[in-house]
Amino acid sequence: MSSLDALNRLAASLAKLPGVGRKSAERMAIALARDPTGVLAALTRALQEVGDTIRSCGRCGYMTPHDQDPCRLCTDSQRDDSVLCVVEDPSAIAALERAGEFRGRYHALMGKISPMNGEGVDGIRVQDLLERVGEGEVTEVILALDTDVESDATASFLAELLNERGVPVTRLAFGLPAGSGIGYSDPVTLARALKGRQQVI
Ligand SMILES: [Zn+2]
Repeated sequence: MSSLDALNRLAASLAKLPGVGRKSAERMAIALARDPTGVLAALTRALQEVGDTIRSCGRCGYMTPHDQDPCRLCTDSQRDDSVLCVVEDPSAIAALERAGEFRGRYHALMGKISPMNGEGVDGIRVQDLLERVGEGEVTEVILALDTDVESDATASFLAELLNERGVPVTRLAFGLPAGSGIGYSDPVTLARALKGRQQVI
């Protein structure tokens, strides 16, 4: 067994994170290994703490403390139950909250339909979405999905399902660059995209 196996395993784990390529993961792993009492120690503690105390909200999918499920966004009585904003993952909820424009509820799909990666409809939270819409309070679903081909296909699929149920569907409109992620968008651009959302037919 090579003495660098642990380092390689760390790099392989880091490379599974969104936005981290293999080379970046290797550089991170080496930087951590070079600084065992600094960043590595803090990161080890932080990882343990997150694992022990943070979970996904059972309703919207956003991050929440273990003992607070549903999360504060789902339980906030000041928010509008009639507008449901559908995103791919919780990082998009964080970005939309930073934008400060949206006061409705959220639903994270936890992915998108991606045949290339073997991800079908069953792998994302579509059934949960339909159940929420079926509760009858939602009068508009905003699809705040990313702007790549798979996200477009996912949006079309969802729009058809929701339209069949008589729920108007809008999608964020202008301002978002093609191929970009909602989670990476700046607050001003996102706020404009929300205001300019368009109905999906
Ligand atoms: Zn929630």
